[in-house]
Amino acid sequence: MVEEVHIRHTHLHGMKPKHIGHGPAVKSLLALQQIAPQLGRGQPVGKRLHHCGTFPDTMFTVTPVRALADNYIWVLQQNRRAIIVDPGQAAPAQAFLEANQLTLEAILLTHHHADHTGGISELSQRWPEAKVYGPADIALVQEAVMDGSHIDTTLGSIAVLAVPGHTLDHLAYRLDGHLFCGDTLFGAGCGKLFEGTAAQMYQSLNTLAQLPDNTLIYPAHEYTLSNLAFARR
Ligand SMILES: [Zn+2]
Repeated sequence: MVEEVHIRHTHLHGMKPKHIGHGPAVKSLLALQQIAPQLGRGQPVGKRLHHCGTFPDTMFTVTPVRALADNYIWVLQQNRRAIIVDPGQAAPAQAFLEANQLTLEAILLTHHHADHTGGISELSQRWPEAKVYGPADIALVQEAVMDGSHIDTTLGSIAVLAVPGHTLDHLAYRLDGHLFCGDTLFGAGCGKLFEGTAAQMYQSLNTLAQLPDNTLIYPAHEYTLSNLAFARR
């Protein structure tokens, strides 16, 4: 499986300069092509991709936990410590933590929508020592972060980027070459403009496009097929 994905990546990378005009946008999506074939198989994505040799040298693994209709709760783990991103539901996240004997260290929130924050109360009750980081407008956030903030964790220092557009408070989190971008960037699409302007979203996507080419993108929803179907209309 790893080899198959690796070939696909090489193939796409080869296509980019010759056949696709939107360099930066495509570059951002390429990393997702690495992830998509593996989702839903219960495999820790980050670690498997790490074996390909062309990805950031990280010690932690990243696993998607499915929640609600099409949400991904991303779980980063190392040495039985876990950080979770956008727990829209507590139960699937808690089940994953228990099944893997993990201690929850922190919760990262990208924006205030309920399908990203709905599980916080329950998880905070179970893990009172796990700090909740996110935009200042979310009541359950314990430490507000913003563009340029850094969060020190046992997995490393996580950089915070402001990416307004989908909402005005939207943040993305970057640890090594892994980007957790919430509802800003998806496979073959971007998030709906609920609060921000198109200009803000464009600026935010450009911010993400400036990250290194081998950045792995972890969106908060699985929209890839529906985005591609929409693009073909
Ligand atoms: Zn949202």
